[in-house]
Amino acid sequence: MRRLARWPPLIYHQVTMRAHTSTSLAPPVTPRSRLWPLRGEFVDTALEQAFRQSALQEVVPQQQVSLLVWAALLLLFAVPDYLAMGPVPGFWLLAGYRGMAVLLLLAYVNALRQSPRLAMHNRLLMWLGLLTYPLFFLFYAVRPDVRAINTGVIMVMQLAMFLFIPSRVMLTLPVAIFGAVGASFSYGWVSTADTATKVATCFLLTMPAVLGYVAALRQQKTERQEFWLRQQLQDANRELQGEVARRVALQVELERQAATDLLTGLPNRRALAERFPIEAARAQRTGEALSLVMFDLDHFKQVNDRYGHAGGDAVLRGVGQLCARSFRGVDMAARVGGEEFAVLLPSASVQQAGAVMERFLHTLSGLDMDIGPHNVRVTATAGVAQQQPDEDLDALMARADTALYAGKEAGRNRVVLAPAPD
Ligand code: GH3
Ligand code: MG
Ligand code: MG
Repeated sequence: MRRLARWPPLIYHQVTMRAHTSTSLAPPVTPRSRLWPLRGEFVDTALEQAFRQSALQEVVPQQQVSLLVWAALLLLFAVPDYLAMGPVPGFWLLAGYRGMAVLLLLAYVNALRQSPRLAMHNRLLMWLGLLTYPLFFLFYAVRPDVRAINTGVIMVMQLAMFLFIPSRVMLTLPVAIFGAVGASFSYGWVSTADTATKVATCFLLTMPAVLGYVAALRQQKTERQEFWLRQQLQDANRELQGEVARRVALQVELERQAATDLLTGLPNRRALAERFPIEAARAQRTGEALSLVMFDLDHFKQVNDRYGHAGGDAVLRGVGQLCARSFRGVDMAARVGGEEFAVLLPSASVQQAGAVMERFLHTLSGLDMDIGPHNVRVTATAGVAQQQPDEDLDALMARADTALYAGKEAGRNRVVLAPAPD
């Protein structure tokens, strides 16, 4: 019993320990949660897929808006081109390139609408970046008047790109490197500025890409760590809920077992003791009677002697079954000793309970109990007592017991009503 009482708290302790370790703020670095240092993605591909799937809802609309803004800007910048250049071949070359880039962007926005899962991979977006970038290289050659502005635009783009493809620096990085190298070469090729200015411009074209990469890498690592932590928490929570449910079920089962007699399946003495004050209080409230019966099988030793202990047990089980089907739902028949039973009968006076027991004993005495090769009949003697105001269970049982032994002395197989105490 000591062990039984001790072990549920032990389980609880283990669960809280586990929950505690997985809720600590720094997520434990397990092989599963490791990130590639420069890619900023989970080494575990299944986990990476799960992360991207969870981020999809946020990423898709974000990307669509970014692409539309990108397309709008590309179109918008055709206006200063036209104002500065007029309808010369250089303008049409730029405009053609712009038109192609805008169409590609719009096609991709539409593709994302049709299939949001595209945003999980985004290789297409990388190719879009690679395809549209040369427009800005061309700019250095075709619009020598706005080279400084073009450099500024590329710098902004280098940074913005890392926001366009959130959480995937490895796809943005090639575009950014292509942009920085391509723009530096284009500028160096066409510019007549001195070497120092060229070097400084290359530096300016490259720095935002480096900054964007470092910032985006840090952010996407944090996002993944948070995702991992959330998953751990959910797992721990599920485990905890399962454990709680198991413990509740176990407790219910333990309580049921503690209140049940193993041999007959009837409630035991403890269950009767728990039920009695409830019924006593109800009786006091309603003014109705409450009666208790004690009954004991007659000459049970002989049953044991003749059929063995197992035979005796079978008879006890038979009596238990008869009890279970003989009384009202509100009554409670319990096995309170070896071959002693008690029945609590709410709303029954001593006479009414006595009449109920007369019928019960009559049925019992006519019942053939099938114990293996034998058919056994047993009788019982019952004592009935009605609860007096404020009388506790022990006192009531003692009075019913006295009546029961009077019945035994008077020849057994009978019901004796206990007189009200003086
Ligand atoms: P009486 O009519 O005076 O009650 O006679 P009795 O033989 O029934 O006498 P008593 O009540 O004193 O004896 C009860 C016997 O019941 C003694 C014991 O061996 C037997 N007994 C008690 N518990 C169990 C049990 O769980 N299984 C079996 N098979 N026998 C039991
Ligand atoms: Mg007996
Ligand atoms: Mg007895």
